[in-house]
Amino acid sequence: MTDGSGGAADPQRLAERVRQGDLGLHELEDHAEPETAATARRRLVEAETGADLSAVGGYGFDPAATEGSVENLVGGAELPMGVAGPVPVEGGAADGEYYLPMATTEGALVASVNRGLGTIDAAGGATARVTDAGMTRAPVFRVEGVAEAAEVVEWVETNEDRLREVAEATTSHGELLEVSPYVVGDSVFLRFVYDTKDAMGMNMATIATREAAQTLETETPAELVALSGNLCSDKKPAAVNAIEGRGRTVTADALIPRDVVEARLGTTPEAMAEGNSRKNHIGSLKAVSLGGNAHAANTVAAVFLATGQDAAQVVEGANAITTMEVREAGLYASISFASLEVGTVGGGTDLPTQAEGLEVLGLAGGGDPPGSNADALAEVIAAGALAGEISLIAAFCSRHLASAHEQLGR
Ligand code: NAP
Repeated sequence: MTDGSGGAADPQRLAERVRQGDLGLHELEDHAEPETAATARRRLVEAETGADLSAVGGYGFDPAATEGSVENLVGGAELPMGVAGPVPVEGGAADGEYYLPMATTEGALVASVNRGLGTIDAAGGATARVTDAGMTRAPVFRVEGVAEAAEVVEWVETNEDRLREVAEATTSHGELLEVSPYVVGDSVFLRFVYDTKDAMGMNMATIATREAAQTLETETPAELVALSGNLCSDKKPAAVNAIEGRGRTVTADALIPRDVVEARLGTTPEAMAEGNSRKNHIGSLKAVSLGGNAHAANTVAAVFLATGQDAAQVVEGANAITTMEVREAGLYASISFASLEVGTVGGGTDLPTQAEGLEVLGLAGGGDPPGSNADALAEVIAAGALAGEISLIAAFCSRHLASAHEQLGR
């Protein structure tokens, strides 16, 4: 490849050509290897902005392997990664002791989850189950009015097998589970739900739904307006996900003996149950939150970043309800995620550091049977988030929150 001068591609010269408008920023890979193209882009951005991108340029992955993950590559954004655990998780798919990889810049977060996992470990471990799974895509169609909308809905209800056949022809793993129609005036929404096995499934579901939508347009008067009509609902806070679920619907729980609560957390089951009720339930209700938890998004975000999940889906991953109650044996604590969207194949999961993060969990790649690795990942994240909830509620009860952050976060 050459930079236009006839010789081998020179990043400085390529940057200059972009600056002069001779080449588009996105066209550099047509004229140079991915690494040279990224260097040229850094040179250009450095010259245009005055920023020094030497740290961004010190990335360790193969730039060619980022295709499908990013465009206009300039380098890498590093994050510190810590590890919490180990903790035993007895799940439907997870089974054994797990260290939790967490990428974060929030001091005290890994320490807090680690303290919670240590508490759960001392109590014998966490139990976790995926109780529902399905990735959704909900296109919106234009119809003449409600009479035509009813006609379209009836066609869908009597032809679900046909839609399944065309949708599933696009994937060797995905399975169409159901199609739920919603009518609003002259708009018809169809919420397609897929079993996407070990993939988070957003691309898979979108490609499959595109084929089903084309069939619907051929067979009915419905006209496709948008392949995503927001009833999916992806990367936006939405009650439909809280109620119907999206990705994995997963719960983790633990029964922690009273002496473990007192010795490890410096508080009592009664104080924690009250703290959880007033903060996570009454406070969340008053704030009209979706879900009611202390900081589930913290664990979700850190594990998502460490394992190559789609970071924007932390929005749905924040939708969780934490419960704590006093039982004869001690404190019962649980966290239930309505919509935890995770995968162990596809997306960013095979980037080098992210794949290593999944390897720490023993969950890199496709599971046997397919879907079991993503189920296990959801269960382990839920157990980690439960630990975070236990630790934070205990910190409030024992009034240690500010001092812990003062010590670890500053
Ligand atoms: P993907 O990488 O597009 O697809 C997963 C691939 O893995 C498929 O080709 C599938 O093959 C294959 N596969 C191999 N083993 C598998 C197994 N055990 N289970 C499931 N699939 C297996 O990933 P995706 O999860 O569908 O999509 C994730 C990406 O979508 C992320 O990069 C995310 O950022 C992006 N995203 C897209 C949209 C959108 O609207 N398109 C929205 C948000 C995010 P087969 O299909 O042939 O079975």
